[in-house]
Amino acid sequence: MMRLPSFRYLSPSTLGEAAAILSAEGPNASLLAGGTDLLPNMKRRQQTPRVLIGLRRVAELASFGNGAGLTLGAGLTLSHVAAAPIVGERYAALRQAAAQVATTHLRNLATLGGNLCLDTRCHYYDQSYEWRKAIDFCMKKDGAICWVAPSSRRCLALSSSDTAPALIALGARIRLLSSRGERELALADFYRNDGIDYAVRRPDEILTQVTLPDAREWRSAYWKLRRRGAFDFPVLGVAAAVRREGDGTVSEARIVLGAVSSTPILSDAGALLVGGRLDDDAITAAAEAVARAAKPVDNADFTLSWRKKVVPAFVGHALREVRGDDMRATRLRLARQTLDPPPSAPAC
Ligand SMILES: Cc1cc2nc3c(=O)[nH]c(=O)nc-3n(C[C@H](O)[C@H](O)[C@H](O)COP(=O)(O)OP(=O)(O)OC[C@H]3O[C@@H](n4cnc5c(N)ncnc54)[C@H](O)[C@@H]3O)c2cc1C
Ligand code: SF4
Repeated sequence: MMRLPSFRYLSPSTLGEAAAILSAEGPNASLLAGGTDLLPNMKRRQQTPRVLIGLRRVAELASFGNGAGLTLGAGLTLSHVAAAPIVGERYAALRQAAAQVATTHLRNLATLGGNLCLDTRCHYYDQSYEWRKAIDFCMKKDGAICWVAPSSRRCLALSSSDTAPALIALGARIRLLSSRGERELALADFYRNDGIDYAVRRPDEILTQVTLPDAREWRSAYWKLRRRGAFDFPVLGVAAAVRREGDGTVSEARIVLGAVSSTPILSDAGALLVGGRLDDDAITAAAEAVARAAKPVDNADFTLSWRKKVVPAFVGHALREVRGDDMRATRLRLARQTLDPPPSAPAC
């Protein structure tokens, strides 16, 4: 059985108090939200903070405000986010992403902020301490080499958050607070393509809030590929959000890929849809363009060539759902299936 290393637990009740503790404790401390990622990582000694700052008592992090747009506190659970009627009505991609993270039990603990700050993942890293020691560790923790690409000077571990691509497609902004002040930035600018240093969050900053613009004229969708339809980390996530004029002409479009790189990828292919209709030819052209940008590496479930091959099919599903096609049968099939052994052709 893997045991947690010892740590000191502090439980502030305000954001100001939490920020002051984080600043005083420095790199020895980690924020603990739902703990569904951090605690397993600590058991595997991937992270070994000596102080945990529990955020559960900080009421400001559980704010929920809707007007023209939507404001979500980083401490809201994913179950709460997925069940909120306004999220289902106006921000379908977010509802679909939040509802597909892990299992019901975990979503009742897991928070939106924790999902956005989720550590990157890799077959050579998400292993016990003994397993990692047996291969002399890797660059992400305790070692010097990258086992996925030994000549790489950068860690290629994958961004595996489901809500990050959905929120980027929806144009989300986030607020970060520290005892030095507060800043706001687009979620798209929060991530870096580096498996170790994967976010621009400074060590003393707390992600406090996510804000979404008015999405009444938008439609969005999130599609996820994973081995077990019941629950699993994504090996591909596709979020699409499209705004159309009354006559059906696309005026804005964003397509974002998750789990193919150390950062969610906001594809240029959304621009191909602008000015035209969301017909089959336009969807196929956009899906192929998105797929060209996806360059998965060999550090997740399934072969990388198969993971690349399925990208256009999943982009197509997302865009057809955004168009208004009834995709329920395809969704149900994906939710029920376990891809074991992996198919040799795209499963769609
Ligand atoms: C079996 C299993 C399956 C899973 N499947 C999925 C999946 O399919 N998709 C998916 O996306 N995730 C999955 N996860 C990972 C995890 O459950 C979720 O990502 C969850 O949303 C993490 O949120 P949390 O509140 O538990 O974060 P925590 O574990 O508490 O924290 C995660 C990280 O975020 C930091 N953090 C937390 N809150 C803040 C904040 N407000 N400001 C700054 N930093 C913060 C923590 O310090 C830590 O580094 C799975 C986990 C398990 C155990
Ligand atoms: S991509 Fe390379 S350095 Fe990063 S976790 Fe995997 S093996 Fe380690």
